[in-house]
Amino acid sequence: MINLILQYDKRVRYSLNAILASIDKLGVSRVLLSKSFDESLRHASSPPRGEKCVYATSLLTTMLADDSYLINLVETVKRIREKGCLTIVGGPHASGDPYGSLSVLGFDFAFIGEGEKTIADFLSALENNLDVHSVKGLAYRDRETGEVSFTGRGKSVNLDDYDPFPYWRGIVNPIEITRGCSFGCFYCQVSYLHGFTLRHRSVEKIVNYAEISMKLGLKDLRFISPDSLSYGSPYSTNPVNMEKIVFLMESLHAKTVQYGGRIFFGSFPSEVRPEHAQEDVLRIIRKYVANKELIIGGQSGSERMLKLVKRGHGVGEIESAVDSALRTGFTPSVDFIVGFPGETEEDMLSTLKLAEKLVGKGAKIHLHYYIPLPGTPLGLKNPSPLPVKVRKEWSRLVGAGKAYGSWLTQETLSKKIIELYEKGFVYPRKAGLASAQLLHPSG
Ligand code: SF4
Repeated sequence: MINLILQYDKRVRYSLNAILASIDKLGVSRVLLSKSFDESLRHASSPPRGEKCVYATSLLTTMLADDSYLINLVETVKRIREKGCLTIVGGPHASGDPYGSLSVLGFDFAFIGEGEKTIADFLSALENNLDVHSVKGLAYRDRETGEVSFTGRGKSVNLDDYDPFPYWRGIVNPIEITRGCSFGCFYCQVSYLHGFTLRHRSVEKIVNYAEISMKLGLKDLRFISPDSLSYGSPYSTNPVNMEKIVFLMESLHAKTVQYGGRIFFGSFPSEVRPEHAQEDVLRIIRKYVANKELIIGGQSGSERMLKLVKRGHGVGEIESAVDSALRTGFTPSVDFIVGFPGETEEDMLSTLKLAEKLVGKGAKIHLHYYIPLPGTPLGLKNPSPLPVKVRKEWSRLVGAGKAYGSWLTQETLSKKIIELYEKGFVYPRKAGLASAQLLHPSG
């Protein structure tokens, strides 16, 4: 039996829940859930004699922007290793910056890409005294030479083979219905982490987890997807698969009627691509969903920026999605990002102009500031500062209640990540290459 200390940070709880479900199902570990570094250290101090010990955690790059968290993390990993436990890290940061996760943060193993199968293979090898270094999807560092090796990309998982959460522990969360995205927008980790081809959980499985959630008291059903309206299509670039979406909605509706639940689709924590938000499909889902708001990924009002970051749609599609949402009874909430690398004042003013126009029609604007993320083609490129005029205009829109969002906090985070990068804590130059090679599948 392996003593597995899982540091459970609520910022990454959805992905940790899927990992925990996979670990539980394998049945070779005694899982010790820990909510803090101190608790993890206590667990690592008392493994029964002769038992193997593993410390695992998941990281987002933004978590490292907190100085005390970063210092504690590095110290905890060091002390836990000294106690003889293997230390592993997964999540978007480990995938985007495996070299830094090993050489700077000090972990023994970085899990690259999807974790459900990799953790099961890893624990299974460890339990059976096999060489864990042969498990696919890992990066590790030679303790003597410091050289980093990669064991090869793991196979993409079939979502139906894994539970989205360990419901037997009473834990449920939004159900992941789709993984992967064909667009590979240059600032986003999704395609580089999960691939360019879409994988969907079957309607039968989704309905089953919906029923389990409602029986456990979670009546508002939410879903995780890069684009809810790509459900059932092999590529995000395909037109909406109406038949599949209708089947999903009808099947979920039948269950929610039985248990008094409600469906939230196309709202947090997922959104819809503008070219998919067309009147015919929105009219159908409107009949079934409880959300009034439809979240549309617009990202920029500048055609030049949309092309530069490889969004795969233009300004016209954003406007048309907003019109369709309004005509079908939704309140459109349009995501915009400011501060993209290379974004000029003119680009920013185009976004503001579009935002004003959409607000005039009845939309809300959800404003974000660009956050540099390792493992993306933009890498850790410097964000563009906001000219005073642009900042003032956005503040005015926010003050008037027409725009909202954590753009100012994200601006601070963004600067902090660049600082960490410059200091060599994140994405060391050499690693940039390594990460890109590991993470950029051909599509
Ligand atoms: S469409 Fe959305 S999920 Fe897909 S790569 Fe672009 S930003 Fe990411």
